[in-house]
Amino acid sequence: MVAEIIEFQFRRYERKFRKPLRTARGKHEVRIGFVARLAGPDGTEAFGEIAPWPEMGSESVAEAEAFLTSVAKSGGIPGFFAIPSTLPACRWGLSSALESLRRKRPLPSKTFPVAALLPAGAEALQRGVELRETGFQVFKWKIGLADARTEQNLFRVLCRAVPDAVFRLDANGGLDNESAREWLSFLEGMPVAFLEQPLAPAHMKELRALAAESSVPVALDESVGTWRDWENLRPAGWSGPVVVKPSVFGSVDEVRRLAREARVVVSSVFETSVGVEAILQLAGEVNVSETLGLGTGEWMEEDGLYLHGSGPLLRGGWVSPGEIWARLA
Ligand SMILES: [Mg+2]
Repeated sequence: MVAEIIEFQFRRYERKFRKPLRTARGKHEVRIGFVARLAGPDGTEAFGEIAPWPEMGSESVAEAEAFLTSVAKSGGIPGFFAIPSTLPACRWGLSSALESLRRKRPLPSKTFPVAALLPAGAEALQRGVELRETGFQVFKWKIGLADARTEQNLFRVLCRAVPDAVFRLDANGGLDNESAREWLSFLEGMPVAFLEQPLAPAHMKELRALAAESSVPVALDESVGTWRDWENLRPAGWSGPVVVKPSVFGSVDEVRRLAREARVVVSSVFETSVGVEAILQLAGEVNVSETLGLGTGEWMEEDGLYLHGSGPLLRGGWVSPGEIWARLA
């Protein structure tokens, strides 16, 4: 496996959010990651994105950079099994590049509906109306940023303002047990696909209890940030949705295995089009039935690194990752 690769390079990117991203866990203004390029002896090249997001349990940007630097110095990439599980973003980025190098020709392109991420708070109203008009039907909205009554009133208004839509509410682990329970009963009968990660990952027992009691599905996200998390969690089982961010979860094979074992909702960590393309290829293969949570392209400033467009449908197989690579030179 090592012998087939003659070149390894990586380039760093630094992208700005148009507006700071606010979640119950903090504020993000800049997104830093890497694009790696592998080249085979016959001149074929392939690209992978390494997009750490430590909030989800991945390595830090500095840890990823140190690993990529060591790989570049050693002159060839190790089999991705040799990439430690403590570096899931590197595992994903390098395994997806390796697979596409071996594949030689691209997979047939598929088109997927995507969910749009709404801004937090009252800004969601106008944006939701605009995005609904462009054809989006599934929306993600962050909760747990203000008091529950304010957010619930706002959500009622949002449901009326944005008709025939389905919402994914995401608490990013920011609720306590009592308010999670209150939210779930408030959401009964509302157009909600699920309440995502109401409690912090440490409260797995309580999350199971909430899921068992509620008619509104409870989804896990931060609880299953990486393959290691899933290995710890699966003996006790989880039948609800699992939001997976492939870019920070682990190797491509580990994401495939998760997709066989759980009801997977694919989601983004604000990748460039290199990462988005890798996720679309995988989604085409593992037969995900859910709307993809990849409608985040327009959250970043226009920098030429995201070329998939911002509409309600994403099509794989037509953006050339080499173009993104060239722009990072
Ligand atoms: Mg989430």
